[in-house]
Amino acid sequence: MTYPTQPEASHFVNGRYVEDTDGTPMDVIYPATGEVVARLHEATPAIIDQAIESARAAQADWAALSGTERGRVLRRAADLMRERNHELSVLETMDTGKPYQETSVADATSGADALEYFGGLAGSLTGEHIPLPGGDWAYTIREALGVCVGIGAWNYPTQIACWKAAPALACGNAMIFKPSETTPLCALKVAEILIEAGLPAGLFNVVQGAGAVGAPLTTDPRVDKVSLTGSVPTGRKVYAAAAEGIKHVTMELGGKSPLIVFDDADIEDAVGGAILGNFYSSGQICSNGTRVFVQAGIKEAFLKRLTERLSTAVIGDPLDEATNFGPMVSEAQLGIALNYVAAGQEEGARLVTGGTRIDKPGFWMTPAVFADVTDDMAIAREEIFGPVLSVLDFTDEDEVIARANDTEYGLAAGVFTSDLKRGHRVIGRLEAGTCYLNSYNDAPVEMPFGGVKASGVGRENSKAAIEHYSQLKSIYVRMGAVEAPF
Ligand code: NDP
Repeated sequence: MTYPTQPEASHFVNGRYVEDTDGTPMDVIYPATGEVVARLHEATPAIIDQAIESARAAQADWAALSGTERGRVLRRAADLMRERNHELSVLETMDTGKPYQETSVADATSGADALEYFGGLAGSLTGEHIPLPGGDWAYTIREALGVCVGIGAWNYPTQIACWKAAPALACGNAMIFKPSETTPLCALKVAEILIEAGLPAGLFNVVQGAGAVGAPLTTDPRVDKVSLTGSVPTGRKVYAAAAEGIKHVTMELGGKSPLIVFDDADIEDAVGGAILGNFYSSGQICSNGTRVFVQAGIKEAFLKRLTERLSTAVIGDPLDEATNFGPMVSEAQLGIALNYVAAGQEEGARLVTGGTRIDKPGFWMTPAVFADVTDDMAIAREEIFGPVLSVLDFTDEDEVIARANDTEYGLAAGVFTSDLKRGHRVIGRLEAGTCYLNSYNDAPVEMPFGGVKASGVGRENSKAAIEHYSQLKSIYVRMGAVEAPF
């Protein structure tokens, strides 16, 4: 192996790596081969306590700096991430199995964008002046929340850490981040880089472990906010635990998003959108458009081009730059996806291509496309989080909108059409937080990202994220005498 994957220690607390071998051992497995590439330990209560205490101790001084000073640190960190993109991308590939062709353009680079964007915004986070009758006035101050906890899913470990840390730190908070136990390596590098860029110790701590480590972080009274990226069932638990302490929350949860292709769509673009929205990262993306509604007139042509283009997927060594389809993250996630393939066949959907385990070490399957899927089938209702695309037929606009909205989820939605009036009209009626018109799954830092309905609460990225990592203090100023009734 060309790059070391064993970190100096399991956790990063108060500006340095720390270990506590009393914690349960956690093996890190390279999904492409099934080999153990690192061994870490889950955080013990002592490590969790050190992380919270150091965050609390550091936060007030950080918040007292000017926004420009805080922003300078984040922008330096963004530069370091870009300089080290190659090493960070290789590590992301080892952690997740995603091909280097993806990780080199979508992970550390996306993290750097967030650090740069929120670093740039930090100096302009101000309150407002509000003139009132009689010469009185009010003003508002935008204050940090305090100590924020970030809990990540395993699909984008670097990006998720940065999407949470960058706005939190820009607003003057401290963050304790718990990566998914499946992909624990990348967030440690984010911590190293932030410290090297000048972030004072204690402001970004990483503690490892499974849900049992996340849970005490969400209930600790010294924590002011919890931001989770994960599944809806976990979201329900974490939201409820945070509610007990009336904590702020951001919930970035799962989805079963519709991607609607009208028969006037550019077919190559629509097929391209469906590929990006189902097979990038081997389908392990929350916003994926896994219910592909295709209008009757274009259906067979769409399926033909989709299968033709899928047959050119390069499935192989994720570190080879030519590879564009990698393994699933774990044996468990592969099993879930293959079970859904079996369920789709049992329920009578037509398996057009793929959906079989590839017989080699690691967690590999071929990208699957189902046609003739109906709304009641499990593959059309439940989040699979794997490379399984379902094509559903439709005939008219009102019908497809009603069916697209008939789900508890509301993370994302896409529409492909050459009739732009129709495109905007349809998107206006779709119940989804993040929508795409003649595109799919773009996530620039300038654009808010998040869901409605069971898919979440709050927004990441963009100026909207500032609202979720700061709070307003209002001050009324009376300029005249105070008139009291007695
Ligand atoms: P999980 O919900 O299983 O886990 C998410 C994180 O929560 C993990 O770090 C997990 O720890 C932790 N966790 C689990 N239970 C608790 C608990 N009781 N208290 C605190 N933390 C807990 O999701 P996955 O990791 O399997 O990720 C896939 C899911 O994430 C999908 O549903 C996907 O849609 C969603 N997702 C949403 C995104 C969005 O932005 N909307 C983006 C990416 C993914 P551990 O796993 O280590 O036990």
